[in-house]
Amino acid sequence: MRTLLYGGRVIDPANSVDGRLDLLLEDGKVAWAGTGPVQADRALDVTGKVVCPGFIDCHTHEDPVEPDGRLYADGDRSVFSCMLRMGVTTVVAGNCGENVYDPAGYLDIVDRHGAFVNVAMLAGHEFFRVQAGASDRYAPAGDGQTAAMAEGLAGALGAGCAGVSFGIRYTPGMDERELLACAQACVPSGKPLACHLRDDAANVFSALDEFLGAARTLGLPAQVSHIGSMAGFGQMAEFLAAVGRYRLSGLDVTCDCYPYDAFSTGLGSATYDDGWLERYGCDYGVLELCEGEYKGRRCTEELFRKVRREMPDCRTVCHVMDPKQVAMALCHPAVMLASDATMHRGQGHPRAAGTFPRLIAGYVRTGRLSLYDAVAKMTAMPASRYRLAGKGSLAVGADGDVTVFDPERICDRSTFDDPIAPPEGIDYVFIGGQPALEKGAVVCPALGRSVRVY
Ligand SMILES: [Zn+2]
Repeated sequence: MRTLLYGGRVIDPANSVDGRLDLLLEDGKVAWAGTGPVQADRALDVTGKVVCPGFIDCHTHEDPVEPDGRLYADGDRSVFSCMLRMGVTTVVAGNCGENVYDPAGYLDIVDRHGAFVNVAMLAGHEFFRVQAGASDRYAPAGDGQTAAMAEGLAGALGAGCAGVSFGIRYTPGMDERELLACAQACVPSGKPLACHLRDDAANVFSALDEFLGAARTLGLPAQVSHIGSMAGFGQMAEFLAAVGRYRLSGLDVTCDCYPYDAFSTGLGSATYDDGWLERYGCDYGVLELCEGEYKGRRCTEELFRKVRREMPDCRTVCHVMDPKQVAMALCHPAVMLASDATMHRGQGHPRAAGTFPRLIAGYVRTGRLSLYDAVAKMTAMPASRYRLAGKGSLAVGADGDVTVFDPERICDRSTFDDPIAPPEGIDYVFIGGQPALEKGAVVCPALGRSVRVY
């Protein structure tokens, strides 16, 4: 099948391309780029549209595995279906130290059944911590447990996981010894470490030093996760300067951020341990509950205590970041876009279904970012960070993962009330040269394969 996309504006920052070009997809790959007549089985007029590498979301949380051994894929309510509908063709899941399933086994499931999008996986520290029997997140792990974690992480990396993720916030019992021993698993391959830092707001600087200090000790690349929710409370300029200081001292460190001024996590998580109101300088009313009979309710102290006790898994949205600080992060050259998508069967934060279109609608069309820079943050930067071969590029021979969108119409539609509402303005998405989405509708939900990194 030869598919020609003609008349569009090809933007491919990995190759410094921005111009009117036609693109031919064949045998799963980009087969040709140029102008002029070319034989094709299918020719699509994409005049006025942007043709770019399929978007890459380098910070997501994966859908669960069902008892029948398949991925959760209920209609439009899975994370991965939301991804495809907003133009994402590859996700990097397993972030914040968390895996829903053995990460290498998860890649095998993706290959067995297909998925809405391609899936690369990080090996999550917390997953292997629990496997090793260190189930108290507030207590340090023993030496034997730490060795078992390191061995598990090394095995996952050997099976193609793209790096190791930490969620130190969620495992406060982790000390420097455990951090270094687990991060060490990346040393033979030089794969990156990703981290949800131990602390945020005024405490974010020591937390940054803890993580980047470990990366520097081991000489590994580092990705600082969702910095809007770490430093978006008045610390962003100083935080970005601190990242710059590490970059100038030779550390390969980049960051990601989602374009919302509210974060989302479970009500039972350590984020809401005593002291959170003081840290953010807020009251209980910033906290919105997302599930069950409480969906849409803002908290009072009484409601917070009751639901935290009775339903600690309840998803929450915390409306607490400063939008100007989030914008400062997203416009910074060391920061790429990522959604931090997480869904409980269709319930959650609208970032899972809106992040990518929202950057173009809210930043490019308002003049805060160039279209080219925005596309770089969504394609070339994440592909480079996680060394995703064949992804994030339209070079001849690259994988035929392509997103076509209307730069004037593209926008997010998901909201806190309707978090999975699909965006507008995504015309076509191709995965492996095959149509996955056309005119906003999913036409094939199973083209995604594992993306393994060695
Ligand atoms: Zn996180």
